[in-house]
Amino acid sequence: MKLTAHFTLEEMSFSETAARLGLDNTADAMAIANLTRVAACMEKIRALIGDKPIVVHSGYRSVEVNRAVGGVSTSAHCHGLACDFVCPEFGVPAEVALAILKSGIQYDQLILEYGWVHVGLTQSGSLFRREALTKRSAGAAYEAGIRA
Ligand SMILES: [Zn+2]
Repeated sequence: MKLTAHFTLEEMSFSETAARLGLDNTADAMAIANLTRVAACMEKIRALIGDKPIVVHSGYRSVEVNRAVGGVSTSAHCHGLACDFVCPEFGVPAEVALAILKSGIQYDQLILEYGWVHVGLTQSGSLFRREALTKRSAGAAYEAGIRA
């Protein structure tokens, strides 16, 4: 099912971990509504980086799947409010994150992770913090700003 022109519900709710462990990762109606807003934001990012293809690593994660991948319990992914992605044709994750940081695109959290970019939104109606962070490894603390 298409959420927007370039993003489908299938890619936004696919989880390799869920498939491997046999966990359910079906987005409910609320999560689908949120994923649609995330996909609309991802369309803006796609346009920003020259309409290059975006590879989604993770969008929606059920509580079980989020726990299995070691995600924080408050993760926006559990509500379908976040997307982890890369865009190799545009550049490395740091270049993608910096481009988003310099743009006027609205997000709640932009995180340069170790190998991908995380963009998170808030529930509809809440203010976007436009918080930018860097996390250099799985065990590392979050640092303020996008640090290549
Ligand atoms: Zn994420």
